[in-house]
Amino acid sequence: MHRAPPRLAALLVATLCPAAALLAAEAAPQMVGFGADSARAEAALEARFDAQLDAREMRGWLERMSAEPNQIGSPHDKANAEFMLERFRAWGWDAEIETFYVLYPTPKHVALELVAPHRYAASLLEPPIPGDRGSAHAKGALPPYNVYGADGDVSGELVYVNYGMPDDYKELARRNVSVKGRIAIARYGGGWRGLKPKLAYQHGAIGCIIYSDPRDDGYGAADTYPAGAGRPAAGLQRGSVADMPIYSGDPLTPGVGATRDAPRIDRAAAATLLKIPVLPISYQDARPFLEALSGPRAPPAWRGGLPITYHIGPGPARAHLAISSDWAQREIYDVVAKLAGSVYPDQWVIRGNHHDGWVFGADDPLSGNVALMAEMKAIGALAAGGWRPKRTLVYASWDGEEAGLLGSTEWVETHAAELARKGVAYVNSDSNTRGILDAGGSHGLQRLVNEVAAGVRDPLQPASVLARARAAAILGASRGAGHTPEERRLAKGLLDGGDLPLEPLGSGSDFTPFLQHAGIASLDLGFGGSEPGGVYHSVYDTFDHYVKVEDPDLRYGVALAEVAGHVMLRLADADLVPLHAQDFAASVARYLDEIEHLADKSREETQDNHRLLDARVYELAASATDPVGPPARDADVPFLNFAPLANASAALTASARAFDAAYAAALAEPGRLPAARAASVNALLATAERALLGEPGLPGRPWYRHMVYAPGLYTGYGAKTLPAVREAVEERRWAEVGESVAATAAALDAYRRALDAATAALR
Ligand SMILES: [Zn+2]
Repeated sequence: MHRAPPRLAALLVATLCPAAALLAAEAAPQMVGFGADSARAEAALEARFDAQLDAREMRGWLERMSAEPNQIGSPHDKANAEFMLERFRAWGWDAEIETFYVLYPTPKHVALELVAPHRYAASLLEPPIPGDRGSAHAKGALPPYNVYGADGDVSGELVYVNYGMPDDYKELARRNVSVKGRIAIARYGGGWRGLKPKLAYQHGAIGCIIYSDPRDDGYGAADTYPAGAGRPAAGLQRGSVADMPIYSGDPLTPGVGATRDAPRIDRAAAATLLKIPVLPISYQDARPFLEALSGPRAPPAWRGGLPITYHIGPGPARAHLAISSDWAQREIYDVVAKLAGSVYPDQWVIRGNHHDGWVFGADDPLSGNVALMAEMKAIGALAAGGWRPKRTLVYASWDGEEAGLLGSTEWVETHAAELARKGVAYVNSDSNTRGILDAGGSHGLQRLVNEVAAGVRDPLQPASVLARARAAAILGASRGAGHTPEERRLAKGLLDGGDLPLEPLGSGSDFTPFLQHAGIASLDLGFGGSEPGGVYHSVYDTFDHYVKVEDPDLRYGVALAEVAGHVMLRLADADLVPLHAQDFAASVARYLDEIEHLADKSREETQDNHRLLDARVYELAASATDPVGPPARDADVPFLNFAPLANASAALTASARAFDAAYAAALAEPGRLPAARAASVNALLATAERALLGEPGLPGRPWYRHMVYAPGLYTGYGAKTLPAVREAVEERRWAEVGESVAATAAALDAYRRALDAATAALR
């Protein structure tokens, strides 16, 4: 697919040759959406912004805000919101706390025991770790649990289901093992946590246990805390099991803001509430349960890092699981601050990070939240000096993200009509640790992110954060033997000077309601990737842990504030709303190509498998000790018609090329675009992403309306691009493909028409 190499090639030359570097310093910096003069002014503004960022101050905020448990309903969660409100106002922002009223069950009684072949009561405790002040003072923390699991008191035989994903159930079927009437024990990883109990329930299980296997984020991955970042033996992962791929936010107010008087559905009618009890445990607690299983040996890919032989069961291990909760309504506190724009006050550029944690939440989420605060203080100082953004800046610290993106979703739903008119872009962050820049989002913003990242210096190496991210992407794509054609294509594109591609967004943080429900172009930014995240959602995600093993001097906190802050400032100040349409068109073309290949591959594999089944090779090759039956016989894959989508994609590519040329030409010539015409182009670009919303949304989950990006129904956080079509193919719902192709093509056509209108106005 076409990429545009010259800009980065020029940058490379500039860094290699001193004379060219001097010339480059005098030339205007490359900024999508800016003319030369405004780009120079913007670069000077960003230098003043950077000078305000103070790592030591951020460290102080982090220590203060993570000093006590700060989950929904805790006193410290409210205190943190009030602390930020006071700071935001002191920094010159027009700030307020917006309160929502959400269903938030907390456990009253939790018990898990092995009752046969011998007895063992799970401790369900996370004891203090020497030298970690936080874990020693966890007063006010909730008992470990999975929020929005059902209450229940169940006993039954245990079955080990590996990660508990759809393919795992196919393997169980080949071994004639069912979870029906039994309790499933799954390990974390391999897919989103909420799918594990959901799939267990759909296969008939009466309860579900999820444990953290040491192979995935414990001693198999790193030295365990306090020596390193691996999960300690008693550490366990709390987390939401709401069925977020259906809708996010308060389970009782789908589609509307959870204000005090909002209409609420019955708990029994809430589609995102789980139907069986589920509990997270540590590997220390899991071992006696797994060790007591017999039955078929687990397949090699299912074996974890415990020093035992992994068996599937069922039994003779029997477990008893009991959970009862307080199903209370609680208040959550979004802190929302605005700085009015001077030219386009009704165009909002929005930035957010959540402030609630599972316990102390030093890494998740406060490491990202203090970067957001540093940006706000720096912008406040710019405003105190007389500067105003052209567009309105909206900064928000969300509450209730951990339970299911509650604070952001309820805010988006409450202000839906206003956001439909005013929302230009949303920039999200969450956990942040030292490492490599990870950037995902709407591909029209890919050029903007590349340009910003090229201008931010890495804290550890004499290189830009973009250079490091590109290097990591090239190595990641070419390391190991089994790299795919797609990874080779990515590595080659990067080596040829192409932009670092944005990851498509699935879910797992607060961008979801903005992007996938409201159709606002979004980004998710953060540093990390070098450690396994072994304290994730445990009591050990403390300030002491953070400054010991994650980002000791908050230097990557400053780097995040620079990247996100520059993105915000450019979105707010650009002459024309930043958009490079060919990056989006090329991404869509690539995704369609992937789906067409997927259908072909699926057809071939199905035919191959039919031959294997007809030749009875599975029966003939079966082992005497571990007999594994043949896989189920799938129906043939029909030939599918993607032509309407291919035509829409081709037309989009042509329109994007014309738009980018007209856009660059208008910006290159000072005075070419009169203010009134610039305003009409900006009005079109600010709302262009909305064209990608489909009516009535995705099949079976109308809350999700974006026809290009969605969290997978069966991956959770993982993204599905062109989701209506891709999921129909992946899940073999052939009859749905035609309708999904038409609906997706219609959204692409609507987006193309918005581009064409902007192109006409630019000329
Ligand atoms: Zn988070």
